[in-house]
Amino acid sequence: TPEILSSRQHSLHRNDLSRHAVSVVERLQQAGYQAYVVGGCVRDLLLDLEPKDYDVATSATPEQVRAEFRNARVIGRRFKLVHVHFGREIIEVATFRANHPESEDDEASPLAARNESGRILRDNVYGTLEDDAQRRDFTINALYYDPSTERILDHTHGVHDIRNRLIRLIGDPEQRYLEDPVRMLRAVRFAAKLDFEIERHSAEPITDLADLLEDVPAARLFDEVIKLFLSGKAERTFDLLQEFDLFAPLFPASAAALEDDPDYAGTLIRNALANTDQRIAQGKPVTPAFLFAALLWPALPARTAEIQARGLPPIPAMQEAAHDIIWEQCQRTAIPKRFSMPMREIWDMQERLPRRQGRRADQLLDNPRFRAGYDFLLLRESAGEQTDGLGAWWTDYQEANESERRAMIRSLS
Ligand code: ATP
Ligand code: MG
Repeated sequence: TPEILSSRQHSLHRNDLSRHAVSVVERLQQAGYQAYVVGGCVRDLLLDLEPKDYDVATSATPEQVRAEFRNARVIGRRFKLVHVHFGREIIEVATFRANHPESEDDEASPLAARNESGRILRDNVYGTLEDDAQRRDFTINALYYDPSTERILDHTHGVHDIRNRLIRLIGDPEQRYLEDPVRMLRAVRFAAKLDFEIERHSAEPITDLADLLEDVPAARLFDEVIKLFLSGKAERTFDLLQEFDLFAPLFPASAAALEDDPDYAGTLIRNALANTDQRIAQGKPVTPAFLFAALLWPALPARTAEIQARGLPPIPAMQEAAHDIIWEQCQRTAIPKRFSMPMREIWDMQERLPRRQGRRADQLLDNPRFRAGYDFLLLRESAGEQTDGLGAWWTDYQEANESERRAMIRSLS
């Protein structure tokens, strides 16, 4: 039985929630179902943070949920969910689910499946509220809030862990990581984002199990990597990933470059992540293309040298190396074309920025990728790359008037 916190025993107020989330819960309750606001939003509100989105858990099946709302769609990926749309806001409604049945007899079940190492492949076994709490990842993510009574149901001492700022897995940590290795990344993400500590027993198995990430589908890992590095705490996240040996299975080529030249590669990656955090704090846009360009750039020189040693000239060798590195990275984290193409362009721009004669400089300025390419050049310089003052030259060129620009180009030769 859960611990029940009345409205006087916690700091969450009904009015702090999205009114759409409250209306979804009330509608389901009026129809006779159990329904709660759950997960990250309850956690964030208790910590006085702005929730990213709202999740609702209910005893109603996806079909029953859909029947209650005009604006609802059933979404089915790893598990079936209902999205209830209110203009731009989407409330995600999930049916209570149970942890996986573990007996051999269930092997053939169409609803649930695991692979040999225990990893969950399909996950559509419905259950009770209690089951639903137990199958969640961390105690702080398993709090259920009922806006009608303003009570919190806490099955796993999540409120205690929020107060003590601890990330604690529900159940046996090793087994929970085996079921879903991405939970290791989520532990790090929440630790960085919330400035929490990973509780000792939940932290302990991670290093040994880190390589299990190699079996996770690349598309899912790409999504996770984006959440890791675009959360506003990328630098801290990077430290934690390295501390737990989770960085190498995600970015093997970058990890090798970090081993070879920790000062240069480490400075470049950290500066890129610090810039990203700063931009997010200032509400400026950030692109995964720039991030991936930075994470993988330190891997380029060694690969280029290898290819040159086979007899290719420097520029084609670098292009082949760039292609290979991106292709290999996509086997780990499936980078969509809309990010890998601009990423390539940022790299190609590095080859072009030194060549400024004639009309070339002005053509580069007109290139839609100039800004990202120039920022990337400054990033390389910040990590100690020698470019003969190229960054400063481009800074001056952008600020110069027409006749000053002509003079700058003349004095190049
Ligand atoms: P965020 O602020 O990033 O949205 P969140 O906690 O809401 O954090 P989601 O990925 O939106 O995270 O997931 C919603 C909830 O679903 C989580 O709070 C957790 O209870 C549960 N959950 C998500 N992923 C897993 C997982 N891999 N294993 C077990 N439970 C999970
Ligand atoms: Mg969420």
